[in-house]
Amino acid sequence: MLPESLKQARALLENVTPLKTDCGLTCGGACCRPMEGEMTGMLLFPGEEAYYEGREGYRMTVTDHGTLLFCSGRCERADRPLSCRLMPLLPILREDGMRVATDLRAKAVCPLARQGKDALDPAFVAAVRQAGRILAEDEVQKAFLIRLARQQDELKALRNQFRRGSHV
Ligand code: SF4
Ligand code: SF4
Repeated sequence: MLPESLKQARALLENVTPLKTDCGLTCGGACCRPMEGEMTGMLLFPGEEAYYEGREGYRMTVTDHGTLLFCSGRCERADRPLSCRLMPLLPILREDGMRVATDLRAKAVCPLARQGKDALDPAFVAAVRQAGRILAEDEVQKAFLIRLARQQDELKALRNQFRRGSHV
């Protein structure tokens, strides 16, 4: 069984999507297609494994960052993990509060991530914010969100380093 906070967060993003139209039509569903030569998976939120255990078409592997879910590239709407529902945004939780930002991990695949959240349906942005608030009230999910925020900081630092390096 999914933790209650996770169930609620997933439900908030069950029917609302980044655009009012199907954004997958613009990119051919890029986030559901693994990059060539790469085995990419979606990072599950704590306790989300329970939903996929024994479910056909999925497999999971435990990594230092958490459990990764591998899929066939097609799934039922109700089966999408929270990371897929949040794409290309992320609720970023820090000591001074929570904000919704573009997930830097999405920039390599998602055209919407390169446009920023102002290009997205405000109802989707609001749902991501509300999902973040719900998760932040659950200590386990809160700790995970804080880890994700740190990971975003690391990615940002790396990106800045790379940019500086490319100008040398
Ligand atoms: S990659 Fe971005 S635009 Fe394409 S389907 Fe995924 S969320 Fe939508
Ligand atoms: S789990 Fe579903 S939504 Fe997520 S990448 Fe796989 S097919 Fe796409």
